[in-house]
Amino acid sequence: MLELNGICAGYGEIQVLWGIDMAVRSGEITALIGSNGAGKTTLMRALSGLIPLTSGKYVSEGVDLSKASAAQMLAHGIVHVPEGRRLFGAMSIEDNLLMGAYSRSVSRSELNRDLDRVYTTFPKLRERRNQAAATLSGGEQQMCAIGRGLMSAPRLLMIDELSLGLSPLLVEQLVAALRQLNSEGMSILLVEQDVTTALDLCHHAYIMDMGRIVRTGQGAELLADPIIRDAYLGVL
Ligand code: ATP
Repeated sequence: MLELNGICAGYGEIQVLWGIDMAVRSGEITALIGSNGAGKTTLMRALSGLIPLTSGKYVSEGVDLSKASAAQMLAHGIVHVPEGRRLFGAMSIEDNLLMGAYSRSVSRSELNRDLDRVYTTFPKLRERRNQAAATLSGGEQQMCAIGRGLMSAPRLLMIDELSLGLSPLLVEQLVAALRQLNSEGMSILLVEQDVTTALDLCHHAYIMDMGRIVRTGQGAELLADPIIRDAYLGVL
């Protein structure tokens, strides 16, 4: 669904990504893992049209999106749930969710149907729909951020740092929700520092180091690989 060829990008003079090749397959969960500063967030930003490519291209279903703006990526169904969640704290949960749909021209009844789908995935959000987003716990804020992404009607949901700062129980709930969404056909690209969670959840994974992809394979295969376990899981 998304094919990346030789992606190079960075910030001004600083080059961060050095020729990234990746394939994000339709209907799958793809994980991008790597240590702090490897360039994962930078790749997410490039894929959501927030920073320009210096070279390389990405193509989604035959359409070259390399020069697409953030709004064009969104219109193409490529939706980014950013690290840090970026909710509007003073606004209600429901209004935050509706912000995800602001660029769609759909009827109120369609919006209600989509809201209902988000609330079915994350029942906690339904209970608290009228509360300010700032009153949510970290895990609930992540649910709200993913819910807002879902309200954009994505074909590919890109989630940056799913589990950052969350308790194991909340991570488990989020993982279950992502499995459910994926079983309904949603394609997901997950950036995650918790390597075990990511490899366990994904179909395919890419390991990034210093702006390059250094390894790729099926999640289960990488999880069983002693070299990966040694390097990324701290298991000898
Ligand atoms: P983390 O998990 O710590 O966020 P990451 O793999 O997502 O790591 P990036 O955030 O993409 O890594 O950072 C990659 C490199 O780009 C780092 O060296 C970082 O210092 C640099 N960088 C990130 N944002 C900027 C920016 N706005 N301007 C200049 N350099 C940046």
